[in-house]
Amino acid sequence: MIRRPVHAVKVGNVTLGGDAPIVVQSMTNTDTADALRTAMQVADLARAGSELVRITVNNDAAAAAVPEIRDRLDSMGLDTPLVGDFHFNGHKLLSNHPACAEALAKYRINPGNVGRGMRRDTQFAAMIEVACKHDKPVRIGANWGSLDPDLLARTLDENAALDNPLPLEVVNRQVVINSALDSADEAVRLGMRPDQIVVSCKMSRAPDLIAVYKELAERCDYALHLGLTEAGMGSKGIVASTAALAPLLLAGIGNTIRISLTPEPNGERSTEVQVAQEILQSLELRAFTPQVTSCPGCGRTTSTYFQELTDTIQRHLRERMPTWRDAYPGVESMTVAVMGCVVNGPGESKHADIGISLPGTGERPVAPVYVDGERSTTLKGDHIAEEFQQIVEDYVQRRYGLAKA
Ligand code: SF4
Repeated sequence: MIRRPVHAVKVGNVTLGGDAPIVVQSMTNTDTADALRTAMQVADLARAGSELVRITVNNDAAAAAVPEIRDRLDSMGLDTPLVGDFHFNGHKLLSNHPACAEALAKYRINPGNVGRGMRRDTQFAAMIEVACKHDKPVRIGANWGSLDPDLLARTLDENAALDNPLPLEVVNRQVVINSALDSADEAVRLGMRPDQIVVSCKMSRAPDLIAVYKELAERCDYALHLGLTEAGMGSKGIVASTAALAPLLLAGIGNTIRISLTPEPNGERSTEVQVAQEILQSLELRAFTPQVTSCPGCGRTTSTYFQELTDTIQRHLRERMPTWRDAYPGVESMTVAVMGCVVNGPGESKHADIGISLPGTGERPVAPVYVDGERSTTLKGDHIAEEFQQIVEDYVQRRYGLAKA
């Protein structure tokens, strides 16, 4: 797939755009002023695979805590770049807290929330001045939910005066795009290099997001941050985000993604990282964790054993990845098939690196295992899950250990 050429932006030790792979990022939901809790959540997100983590910087206490958060992460051996999310008072916070401005690797600026009228220009300029002084990139992040009201009013008036006014949703899309691009171009006029600018236009409906980013990709060569804003909770948020991002990513549009899921009560914040990784891996744009192919089950799988084994293997692979990642390069591309019976089981197993077909209802209580397309053994008895996990472990050591040597 051909990726759209855009500027390469250095964000700490991470590159967005250019030839770099698409970067996964996430955002904390702790009070940033609580440096310990925020650092712990950033660490969780980073360990889950978030390559950038954004934190809210909304007041003096939050800005004052940022250097401590950075220090805490460094002392944990985590160099994940931190991105500061600024609205309304960002110009003051960045100017009054130089240690915060230095500790952050990038500043997110929402052009709809940097002030009104003349103040908007001076406050925006103040933030860009700090970014230039500290040599930090910025994301100009327009958001459908916080459009620049002056620009919106002006555009609506102009549209109303047309002989054939455009539909409101089209006008709104134009306002988001123009808000982001005008601000990005203004940042360049103020002294930033194009390779210090990332642009985003967050929309909450998939068709809007797709239309907006297609136009953005036509009109600029800034690196693009992609994400459906306010995607929702659970499967709704995951499906909506995937539906919105997949066509764009497959068209080569987007250099970093964030999945804006509402966490389930007591759910893991890092789910958004896992979903982002799974979207990229499903589209075969990046590999993060060995993938399990499993059938949905049917009337041939009348017990829950097959579901339990799939769940066990999936968890096992994910839990082993932090250790495997360094010891066994390439293991993230491994494929494992766990199938419910012999109808499609052997076929899928042969296509995977390792596959197992469990006995369906009424079938002989044996589970053929395939390795590299060849039938290697047949498991039976009460310890199929453990024995299959051991086969996977041995395979990883044998195949990917050799790759390292
Ligand atoms: S592989 Fe077997 S158990 Fe799985 S869906 Fe197909 S027929 Fe049903």
